[in-house]
Amino acid sequence: MPRGTIARYDALAAARGVGALPPHVDRAQATEKGATFEIERLFGCNTFHIGEMRARLPKPVFRALMATLEEGRELDPSIADAVAVAMKEWAIEHGATHYTHWFQPLTGLTAEKHESFYTPNEGGGAIAEFSGRELIRGEPDASSFPSGGLRATFEARGYTAWDPTSPAFLVHAPGGAYLAIPTAFASWTGEALDHKTPLLRSLSALDAQARRALRLLGLPEARVYPTLGPEQEFFLIAEEFYFRRPDLVVTGRTLFGAKPPRGQELEDHYFGTIPDRVLAFMHDVERELLMLGVPVRTRHNEVAPSQYEMAPLFEHANLAADHQQLTMLKLRTVARKYGLVCLLHEKPFAGINGSGKHLNWSLGTEETNLLDPGTTPAENLRFLFFCTAVLKAVERHQDLLRIAVAHAGNDHRLGANEAPPAILSVFLGETLTDIFERLESLEEMRLEEAGGLMGLGAPVLPRLPRHASDRNRTSPFAFTGNKFEFRAVGASQSISWPATVLNTIVAEALDELCGALEAELAQGRALPEAVRAVVAREYRAVKRIVFNGDNYSPEWHREAETRGLLNLPTTLDALERLTSAKNREVFRRYGVLSERELESRYEIALDQYVKTVTIESETTADIARTLILPAAFRYLNDLLAAAERSRSLGLDGRGTVATVRELQDGIDALRDALDRLLAANAARGNGELEDRARHLRDVVLPAMSAARTAADRLEKIVPDDLWPLPTYREMLFIK
Ligand code: ADP
Ligand code: MG
Repeated sequence: MPRGTIARYDALAAARGVGALPPHVDRAQATEKGATFEIERLFGCNTFHIGEMRARLPKPVFRALMATLEEGRELDPSIADAVAVAMKEWAIEHGATHYTHWFQPLTGLTAEKHESFYTPNEGGGAIAEFSGRELIRGEPDASSFPSGGLRATFEARGYTAWDPTSPAFLVHAPGGAYLAIPTAFASWTGEALDHKTPLLRSLSALDAQARRALRLLGLPEARVYPTLGPEQEFFLIAEEFYFRRPDLVVTGRTLFGAKPPRGQELEDHYFGTIPDRVLAFMHDVERELLMLGVPVRTRHNEVAPSQYEMAPLFEHANLAADHQQLTMLKLRTVARKYGLVCLLHEKPFAGINGSGKHLNWSLGTEETNLLDPGTTPAENLRFLFFCTAVLKAVERHQDLLRIAVAHAGNDHRLGANEAPPAILSVFLGETLTDIFERLESLEEMRLEEAGGLMGLGAPVLPRLPRHASDRNRTSPFAFTGNKFEFRAVGASQSISWPATVLNTIVAEALDELCGALEAELAQGRALPEAVRAVVAREYRAVKRIVFNGDNYSPEWHREAETRGLLNLPTTLDALERLTSAKNREVFRRYGVLSERELESRYEIALDQYVKTVTIESETTADIARTLILPAAFRYLNDLLAAAERSRSLGLDGRGTVATVRELQDGIDALRDALDRLLAANAARGNGELEDRARHLRDVVLPAMSAARTAADRLEKIVPDDLWPLPTYREMLFIK
């Protein structure tokens, strides 16, 4: 009987089959022709989509609903019953027995509470019922969701309200299915308790200002909406290892683990062949997502070992945000079918890349992408105007964008070497920067004198190479040809909040630019002249935000400081600015979040930070005490016995004694660090949330990291067969 633990060896034995498909995945079915998904037939088949509505709804009802969808008009409640009946029939035909209002509380996850369609009837049977009232409004007794003081428990009820712009969908599981209805979640007093409500409000604000801009620019007025394309990064590791890592199970990241001799240096994983099991998993996820109408498009290996990425085609913001939640859900649930666990944490493994979620953002009408430079002078003017609005928004609200991605997990990623720094700047690319610079320097010159629209001797912008800009991967906010890519978003986050912030601050910038343009036009200037004047003036005012160089370099940090740009390295540095006068004002003015709502968001974010770090610090102490120290003591015991026997034989036992000493030092170091961590945890107190949060950041997190350093040193000394945790080498390279 071997002493100590051989848990990891069990895991290694179990991992033998990891590279292959698990037995319950039918390989024949997987390779059969036709398993190419029949995408056309399957796409959206689990959603109550427009085609389904057209087929099932009375014509006037369908038309009224489409008016709501296309023009953003308020829903006529009198049609709700007809929609409810059609939806219920469709769901039941597809095997559903229950329905749920599906919503996005401020935990960042999704929530649901199922209700049966069936009620007993007088004849002793049951009848399926679902009314318009039940469709439109729900009252989950959801008092345990974070509300940041917006609800006292005696008035705890929140209600959910149907969002007709995101189609209802079916969720199948063995034994049945249920209908999920996307909804917003608010308090009785109408205050938003979720991520969807402010997102929807920000869409209206942005639409109003962008339309005004189109009008001023002499372009056809149309509904304007932001489009989002989120690229999701994640890790996949074998279940066998996952369950032997209490830190991963409890916190989603490894709190211990020595750097293996091989990390990502060889860069052999990036864009490499996707392993069989992982590919099978991806096919499965994609199939499920396609059936839910999520237009998944690309997949590849990422830079770190066992890291991958999946991205959809961009969609309208609200739909994209719902679909992103479904994507995270499917990644996590489907992985288990393949004996894998999907890690969405921003930094599951120290020393190698973390995971982000690049959020591609643009503005469009049904016809055009407003951030496309286009090919005609009119399109160029439009582009310059909207692009300037984005620059202005980012420059003014660096803090809000940083806040939009601030949470405990992302702190380990932002500012680390492979992720954008905690300083916001915009990458425009050389060509575009050059154009703006010339515009600015020619501000006072008349257009004709300048030799054409841009002073470039040509009436139109030079074609901007779509992908040239993408080569700079270090920028937190990059223009990539016809969209901006916000790269600081964390892998585990809902994209709704960052999108809400972007929409709101761009609405404000457009509002002000429109005002400036109106003033220019009122002075009798011609449109191109007026636009150029506004753009040039604004560009000069905000150009310190433009940076095309290496964002990882120390020089940039110094330079950013000279430019007076904000550097908010931790969540707390960022969060404390959320409720500043400037931020209250912008959310209030555009009707996105009231002061109370903003304050509640601050409370909730702070509370989540405190809870997350507290759980991590307690888990660190537990693992150090109950897994790592005991393993070291077993080894010490062996060594001491050996040393004693050496001595009894009259040997000098130099090597044994040296090893004992080395181990003893390591144990002492870990014990000291553990004691400091325990003391830090005990000193947490019950004071103000802010004080607790600061204590966690300034005292507890460094104590955790010291404990880790000591434990990782022991990992390099203690015999492999005694080490209780699967190592980085095993988790990352056995696939
Ligand atoms: P790259 O690979 O160079 O980043 P892609 O064209 O593959 O560029 O885009 C990456 C992501 O950006 C995808 O999710 C894509 O759908 C999205 N995207 C492309 N155009 C837009 C747009 N106009 N608005 C929002 N997202 C977009
Ligand atoms: Mg990209």
